[in-house]
Amino acid sequence: MSKLRFRVVEEAFHKKPVDVPHPTERPSEYFAKYVFNREKMFKYLPSKVYAKMIDVIDNGAALDRSIADEVAAGMKKWAVELGVTHYTHWFQPLTEGTAEKHDAFVEHDGKGGMLEEFSGKLLVQQESDGSSFPNGGIRNTFEARGYSAWDPSSPVFVVDDTLCIPTIFIAYTGESLDYKAPLLKALRAVTKAALDVMHYFDPSVKKIVSYLGWEQEYFLVDEGLYAARPDLLLTGRTLMGHEASKNQQLEDHYFGAIPSRVAAFMKDLEIQALELGIPVKTRHNEVAPNQFELAPIFEECNLAVDHNMLIMSLMRKIARNHGFRVLLHEKPFKGVNGSGKHNNWSLGTDSGVLLMAPGKTAEENLRFITFVVNTLMAVYHHNGLLKASIMSATNAHRLGAHEAPPAIISSFLGTQLSKVLDHLEESTNDDLISLAGKQGMKLDIPQIPELLIDNTDRNRTSPFAFTGNRFEFRAPGSEANCASAMIALNAAVAEQLIQFKKDVDVLIEQGEPKISAIIQVIRRYIKECKPIRFDGNGYSEEWKEEAARRGLDCETSCPVIFDNYLKPETIQMFESTGVMNRKELKARNEVKWDMYTKKIQIEARVLGDLVMNHVVPVAIEYQTKLIDNAYKMKSLFPADEAASLSAENLAIIREIAQHTAFIKERVDAMVEARKVANRIAEEREKAIAYHDTIAPMLEEIRYHIDKLELIIDDQMWTLPKYRELLFIR
Ligand code: ADP
Ligand code: MG
Repeated sequence: MSKLRFRVVEEAFHKKPVDVPHPTERPSEYFAKYVFNREKMFKYLPSKVYAKMIDVIDNGAALDRSIADEVAAGMKKWAVELGVTHYTHWFQPLTEGTAEKHDAFVEHDGKGGMLEEFSGKLLVQQESDGSSFPNGGIRNTFEARGYSAWDPSSPVFVVDDTLCIPTIFIAYTGESLDYKAPLLKALRAVTKAALDVMHYFDPSVKKIVSYLGWEQEYFLVDEGLYAARPDLLLTGRTLMGHEASKNQQLEDHYFGAIPSRVAAFMKDLEIQALELGIPVKTRHNEVAPNQFELAPIFEECNLAVDHNMLIMSLMRKIARNHGFRVLLHEKPFKGVNGSGKHNNWSLGTDSGVLLMAPGKTAEENLRFITFVVNTLMAVYHHNGLLKASIMSATNAHRLGAHEAPPAIISSFLGTQLSKVLDHLEESTNDDLISLAGKQGMKLDIPQIPELLIDNTDRNRTSPFAFTGNRFEFRAPGSEANCASAMIALNAAVAEQLIQFKKDVDVLIEQGEPKISAIIQVIRRYIKECKPIRFDGNGYSEEWKEEAARRGLDCETSCPVIFDNYLKPETIQMFESTGVMNRKELKARNEVKWDMYTKKIQIEARVLGDLVMNHVVPVAIEYQTKLIDNAYKMKSLFPADEAASLSAENLAIIREIAQHTAFIKERVDAMVEARKVANRIAEEREKAIAYHDTIAPMLEEIRYHIDKLELIIDDQMWTLPKYRELLFIR
């Protein structure tokens, strides 16, 4: 019965690393080989068209239809030289992941033959029957048309034989149906608002950029073992499995040597990522066994999001070539760390000044404090929304589980920066600004070391930590599209910076000097957003109580957390920044609740099947063996002696009976609970029912299955165990 398990274990042990030939060129030469970047544009586009394209990319100018044909022609020429035959609009629907619809370049030539065709029209816009993508009811099926439109700020690229065109995906009525459209709007809002504020400090700055550097965590599992676990295959996580006797207690995996099959995978992945223009830089083992991390150099946020989506699909593909499956689920294994995707976020000028990095002069430090404090204000006012932006059925397993940030958003600043803010709060304006004779104004801002980055008091328990020149949002899940968090964060900061400018301008109009006006507003903000600052242990029970006292959002139920998207202050924030309107927000929440329900529903079905097809039959088979043995004892030995010899087995027989009875009863109850929940018409209420009644049953059932796994003869157990999934590579 359990032959498959032992066969795949045996095979996994004998697998050798795949040979990945070393590229003959240097990374700087093959970097972005498959990207139609500026260098290729320069080569393949007429110079006037090239100049216009650069204007479109750098300044957000509209892509003029008249040049679209020439851009398409240049792109096609480049792509055909690489052997490309198809093109696709590549977009990011509200399901996690990306979607594509491939079309061949060929068109009828009108003379009975074919010719290779790719017009500007096809490049810029494409109609798509998106009815199969979640839209939360924005489009009824009879008008199930949406269209995808090229986002020229993200360059097109080639994967295999296909030219991929990054696009936004919107309904004909204008509402966004994807992650990219609102992200671009949020980025436009925040860069504009930050530029206006930056002009207080340096009127010569032309452009602000929002940056993102993500760190992607993932697990690798041998493909054969993976295939023998229907739960991993169908839900991305193990719904059962007793902890291995050795887990991550020793933490010897972290930064340890990378196993050779994994190293080959990483090498392959890095080469292909670099060819696609993804600037990958670091790789290492993570805390849990078979868990790893990959991080690129940070980039402009929209591009970084695309690159993360691309790297996740590359990982899935390349892992299979190495006999692995990559697990991007936030919590594939109980009892070991889950996977996150830290989002390092900052604002900077196009000339490279990071707005949240301390400077050399007092004025530069005031700029630094201004942007840090406004970020804190945004995070404070929208802490519930930020939590909603990273919440999902899968990430819910990770948050608050003593390994990842708790389900409460707070911000860590570290002692040095906290001291500076406290000083500003406690001083008077006159203390802070003194007129220093001929030198003009003197600002009393405590010296801030320029290299806060190497500051050691990092707090791993904080979901939103200041790390020297950026904030690190650690709550996003490994599987998520970073855009969700980045839309909320950038839009909230945009709203806050707009408010800040208003507040400062009012004081300036009243005759207050600029610097003094800025300091006054900042001091007020420091007081107001104090509840969001927390440098202590975010995993502790005391923090939960303290956070509730401070009025931070402490809700833990995933479907209820989504309500944050529809709070009046959220709608106001998204509408005033032009990112999303009420209708879009409502529709997107319908999708979120529906996806939540479906995830739990699938897990419940899969667990039910596993119980009936694997667990219970094996338990009964083993129990029968024990019963046989007890009978045979009776025929061999006198009654007293047989009873004492069989005592252990009889106890196990009873234990198995108790566990299986409980499991069967709960599985039936779970089916009934699902029937009840499925009758609920409203998506929100249905998701809450799944959260409150069905999700806990999964855990109860699992507990008893894991107990059975410990009792039953290892030779009979059909499903690969944790020790096999986690330690073979
Ligand atoms: P950690 O110590 O958390 O592993 P790293 O130093 O490896 O952090 O950096 C993590 C990520 O942060 C990288 O992707 C890096 O490029 C990015 N990063 C560094 N500085 C910034 C910044 N100013 N803005 C955005 N991302 C940044
Ligand atoms: Mg990090």
